[in-house]
Amino acid sequence: MTRKLFVGGNFKMNGDLEQLTKLVHQFNEADVDVESAEVVIAPPALYILPLKELARKGISVAAQNAHQLPAGAYTGEISLQQLKDIGLNWVILGHSERRTIFHESDELVAEKTAAALKANIQVIFCIGETLEEREGNKTEEVVTRQTEALAKVIGEDDWKHIVVAYEPVWAIGTGKVATPEVAQDTHKMIRNFLAKRVSQKVANDTRIIYGGSVAGKNAQELCNQPDIDGALVGGASLKPEFVDIIRAAE
Ligand code: PEP
Repeated sequence: MTRKLFVGGNFKMNGDLEQLTKLVHQFNEADVDVESAEVVIAPPALYILPLKELARKGISVAAQNAHQLPAGAYTGEISLQQLKDIGLNWVILGHSERRTIFHESDELVAEKTAAALKANIQVIFCIGETLEEREGNKTEEVVTRQTEALAKVIGEDDWKHIVVAYEPVWAIGTGKVATPEVAQDTHKMIRNFLAKRVSQKVANDTRIIYGGSVAGKNAQELCNQPDIDGALVGGASLKPEFVDIIRAAE
């Protein structure tokens, strides 16, 4: 099976309704082939509905996070069932900002991911090491530990609803992009882990995308690597440049 390329745009806590509406209009009008690359944008939660209405066919909308329980007294949280209720089919889980700033553990991210799949929502499952961990030669240990937590709680068949986003923390929002070779090596390591831990089929079929200072100028080279199946983009997804990244992945 050939893996369809995937480009995600994570707006984080940026933009207002006017700015983001203008941005999505620009994406809608761009001449990109959404048949050859799957495109998903993740606005702040309160803009999901209007932007979902606005985004053209072929551009899906994701939430940036969700709670693992269906309902209850969890002030400020949004459940996966509520996301599904408004027609959402994607959620980003385990972003490094959630893991570090909001102290989400490997187990919690895995639990949320399993809950998303149960709610019929596909997951952009983020993993990645810090600079200290990379310099301490711990990259493999960290990304396999994060992936193992998920492998423990989902079945082989569930992996077709997961896109793994490898995002080295030292490359996120820093302008310090991993070289295509460094990113490719880690993607290959993750794919080998999936082959050993889950199955060769899951390793072959699961999309593993790269995130960390992806821009119009470096996207092509990254996406040309055999084990890199697209990109998760933060800063550059808030600019018309996002269209160049989609084109690079096509
Ligand atoms: C991200 O936050 O997922 C990300 C990759 O950010 P940036 O592209 O800004 O490094």
